[in-house]
Amino acid sequence: MTHITPDDAAARRAVRPVICYPNETLPDPDLPGLQAIRLTARKAGECMIPPREARCFHVPAGHFFRITSVEGPQVGDLNLWSAAAPQERFYSGKTRALHGSHLTRGARMWSSFPHLRPMATVTQDTLEWYGIDEYGGSVHDVIGTRCDPYTHHLLNGHDYHHCCHSNLVNALMAELNLIRGEAEPLVHDVLNVFMCTGFTRDTGQYFMKASPVRPGDYIEFFAEIDLIGGLSACPGGDCGSAHSSDAAACHPLLVEIYAPAQTMVRPQSGPNDYRWP
Ligand SMILES: [Zn+2]
Repeated sequence: MTHITPDDAAARRAVRPVICYPNETLPDPDLPGLQAIRLTARKAGECMIPPREARCFHVPAGHFFRITSVEGPQVGDLNLWSAAAPQERFYSGKTRALHGSHLTRGARMWSSFPHLRPMATVTQDTLEWYGIDEYGGSVHDVIGTRCDPYTHHLLNGHDYHHCCHSNLVNALMAELNLIRGEAEPLVHDVLNVFMCTGFTRDTGQYFMKASPVRPGDYIEFFAEIDLIGGLSACPGGDCGSAHSSDAAACHPLLVEIYAPAQTMVRPQSGPNDYRWP
């Protein structure tokens, strides 16, 4: 049934929007302080993520981790879990509500309820120059979910086994010695590292376009708590055409861990102070 447009439709549409979550009162990430810690940090390890696969890595609180594009443009799907209890995990939706649809330097990655605390802070982003393009696209989104075999089967009717969801499940199973039924519910909506995305203005549909990332570009994070990271080198490659298949050119992603000097260790971020009545 089609409903008629009311006489005052234009006036109703003209109401000015307000920001849902003004974020000026969020705790200050203290980027200059983090930069000072980073200057004394030394590389403590690395992990290469093969194309169309995922790996897990540990980042102690107070350390930094850097994700770098190597060999060619490549998108990465990032999950974060608390190393102490992986049920506490990255909350993409609330991070989006607090910081906007795409993350860059200064944004935090917040954890799930009831914790809602910073898991990581973005300290460097070589793609911060990109901003928002003429299509409304930007880089490092928290609006997508992750490519997964279920949606692919729903839309295309066949099975593909190297979606980021599948890769992250397999990596977490291996890392924590879990069966699939235990690991799969822990995999969650991602930070789409290096992916260039937005919503179309005419239909509101989620779009992607070829990532502007080039070898040598990186995004770096400060670990606010002890973390397990999971990173999938998306089968979409630069996500300029297709995903959930072996069609796109794919490249590895490099993860590097940097340890702070002993004197520069900061305390972990604390739990949310809300108390139920
Ligand atoms: Zn993917």
